[in-house]
Amino acid sequence: MISGSCLCGDVAFEIDESGILMSNNCSCTNCRKVSGAGYGTFLQLKPSCFRWKSDPAKVATYESSPGNYRAFCARCGSRAPQCGQLPVVGVPAGALDSDPGVRPAVAFYAESAAAWCVADVTGDAYPQMPPPEFWAEFMGKLQ
Ligand SMILES: [Zn+2]
Ligand SMILES: [Zn+2]
Repeated sequence: MISGSCLCGDVAFEIDESGILMSNNCSCTNCRKVSGAGYGTFLQLKPSCFRWKSDPAKVATYESSPGNYRAFCARCGSRAPQCGQLPVVGVPAGALDSDPGVRPAVAFYAESAAAWCVADVTGDAYPQMPPPEFWAEFMGKLQ
């Protein structure tokens, strides 16, 4: 198990790293804005491998695009895991307290990367979201 937390500690959780399906970077404009960095890095996790260690009510959300509610600590503003929106839990990698052992293998929205961003992504880079075939294979791992 690996623990994660926000900057102030109000939001805490743990994950079973055996449930990590993928790690990806995303350079979309919204990920850049919300992180203040070149891209966001996420772990996509089986929901059964996620557990809150704090009151989920400490997490606030903002609908950055239709149906996408970005989660953050209501007190300190750190990104928080996004639960209940997709078949997977999106965990911000920077919130983890130790190394999950996986590395980002896919980059989303590469065409939106900032000119000043020095990309360090290995693996496949997609100009926007990956195509349906990618997601079909990904969802197959959920079984
Ligand atoms: Zn916090
Ligand atoms: Zn993004």
